[in-house]
Amino acid sequence: MHVAIVTVGDELLAGRTTNTNATWLCGRLDERGVDVERVTTVPDDVGTIARVVNEYHAEYDAVIVTGGLGPTHDDVTMQGVAAAFGRSLEFNEDAMAWLEAEGGYIRDDLTEGTAEIPRGARPLHNDEGVAPGCVIGSVYVLPGVPAEMKVMFNRVSDAFNGAPRYREIVVVDEPESALLDRLETVQERFDVTVGSYPGGSVRIVVQSREKGAVEEATQWLRERVDVVDDLEG
Ligand code: ATP
Ligand code: MG
Repeated sequence: MHVAIVTVGDELLAGRTTNTNATWLCGRLDERGVDVERVTTVPDDVGTIARVVNEYHAEYDAVIVTGGLGPTHDDVTMQGVAAAFGRSLEFNEDAMAWLEAEGGYIRDDLTEGTAEIPRGARPLHNDEGVAPGCVIGSVYVLPGVPAEMKVMFNRVSDAFNGAPRYREIVVVDEPESALLDRLETVQERFDVTVGSYPGGSVRIVVQSREKGAVEEATQWLRERVDVVDDLEG
């Protein structure tokens, strides 16, 4: 399964907020065997959100959008996602009924627009905050507040699945530049992808959908590099 993540917010692009949502989602999706192929941050701008969501919806099996929910003027994500599907925003009775019954809110006290989602979308209830998320097609729209985003993702995480991925890490006490030939050869010989991550020692990450290939490739490497330490990854 191939997925794209879109994080929305001017404050992310200005460096005022660290994009922990993207990192957290990448980790959860990776654990589920899902390939995340894009993480894109866009400003709070309807046209930009619409364009990116439209493109990614066509290209990936699913898209996760976070941030910019809620009915305040700078929260335009729902409008952008609706525009990506050529739909309008519509009051959703289900979302409002949930806010009243489970959220403890009074309908008339909520800011206008609180329960609006794109026409035809399914609301996702927000256990930690007010603004509902939604699912439209294979696009999942989640809040920006990390605690809200996490709980809502957990409600829909069953939709994100891939074949298990196996991974082993070899930590090497050699400069990365000296390892190039061996890194190239191991990828030619075995059905694995290999990443190398310098910084002090070099971490070589061997990964495949096939467990045996990872074991064989790792063994091959360990016999040919100056190993510091082995870690299961
Ligand atoms: P609300 O309904 O409370 O306005 P929201 O879904 O509209 O929430 P935003 O307004 O985009 O979310 O962001 C609310 C807060 O959540 C931000 O001030 C920021 O602290 C945090 N936040 C938003 N996006 C991210 C992100 N990608 N990573 C980490 N924190 C984020
Ligand atoms: Mg907001």
